[in-house]
Amino acid sequence: MGTVELQNLTKEFGSGDDAIVAVDDLSIQLEDGEFLVLVGPSGCGKSTTLRMIAGLETTTEGDIRIEDGLVTNREPRDRDIAMVFQNYALYPHMTARENMSFGLKMNSDLSEEEITERVEDVAGIMDIGDLLSDEPSELSGGQQQRVALGRAIVRDPAVFLMDEPLSNLDAKLRTTMRTELQALQEDLETTTIYVTHDQTEAMTMGDRIAVLNEGELQQIGTPLECYNRPANRFVAGFIGSPSMNFVDVTLEDGALVHPEFEYDLSESTLETLAGHTELVLGIRPEDIELTDESGEIEASAQVVEPLGDFSHLHASIGDDTVTVTVEAGTAIPNDESLGLSVPEERLHLFDPETGTALKNSDAPVKNAHLLAA
Ligand code: ATP
Repeated sequence: MGTVELQNLTKEFGSGDDAIVAVDDLSIQLEDGEFLVLVGPSGCGKSTTLRMIAGLETTTEGDIRIEDGLVTNREPRDRDIAMVFQNYALYPHMTARENMSFGLKMNSDLSEEEITERVEDVAGIMDIGDLLSDEPSELSGGQQQRVALGRAIVRDPAVFLMDEPLSNLDAKLRTTMRTELQALQEDLETTTIYVTHDQTEAMTMGDRIAVLNEGELQQIGTPLECYNRPANRFVAGFIGSPSMNFVDVTLEDGALVHPEFEYDLSESTLETLAGHTELVLGIRPEDIELTDESGEIEASAQVVEPLGDFSHLHASIGDDTVTVTVEAGTAIPNDESLGLSVPEERLHLFDPETGTALKNSDAPVKNAHLLAA
């Protein structure tokens, strides 16, 4: 059972006034076979978390359990994990076969024949059977990463830990490897924790995603839960591409009031907002529809970015700028008034002080294919 439990995990670097809290009281539980993506901006503590699980970094506080066993103070080799790094970390003077066999030779009781059999089986799965005699310098980046993944797979660990494993690959290969890796993980059913700063990777690969910021867990949930029902403004802005639009408004006489528009709210939404006057309105670019000038929100078109089957329209609403996703070929009057309309069920509203979501989208996600754009 490859379950993983992180309990109140904290990591401080340095001490006293100079201390950096890289990971702050992080608690996460993974089920056996789950694919969890740790995602967040640079410096949010993703790699430090992974390195603590691997045993490459000590913990300041908290516990780590793998397969129900406490491993917090165990050596990396005694944790039944295999790690894959961004820079492949292959031994340069060993062939692909030797790289893949090395861990098994050092840390298992398998015979030479058993190791050979396992390496060749995995090389078949990874489609690198004819590269086993090559050294890393003879392999492309994509091939090196296949060898690095193969090396992790032959170990047959309880848990894979992957730190931005696809970041060094070009965009096309990254997309292909993303799909392959996901299919492979489903076949192997090995619990996987995957670190990335790329929200698209997180949205498309994870069974669940854990969004971190400044060492703290912001939200953990399925990609669509985090997308439709972000816990706070940070998650709302981080998940989704292009980002959610945010506009400051006030709540007056049952309506959201902005210098350029008023938006009447239903009784049920007003109930959820009771006690709040200052609000941040969040609208996803794909939830905005262009109407005529009499739309709920008056805006003027600024720039259109064509992206194939859809375009991003940047429009201004007074001093605010919003992005609208429109289908390719949509007629957009240049520098003229546009009417924008957004169904109330798709509005997000946040507390400007705490960032907490007060109202989220009640509707199923629209244009889900655009998430991966
Ligand atoms: P990136 O994607 O840029 O690698 P990350 O989310 O993985 O970012 P970490 O590498 O975990 O972030 O770093 C979290 C914080 O801890 C950062 O502020 C970083 O500067 C700090 N940090 C990481 N390792 C050390 C270290 N060995 N000594 C001191 N500070 C460190």
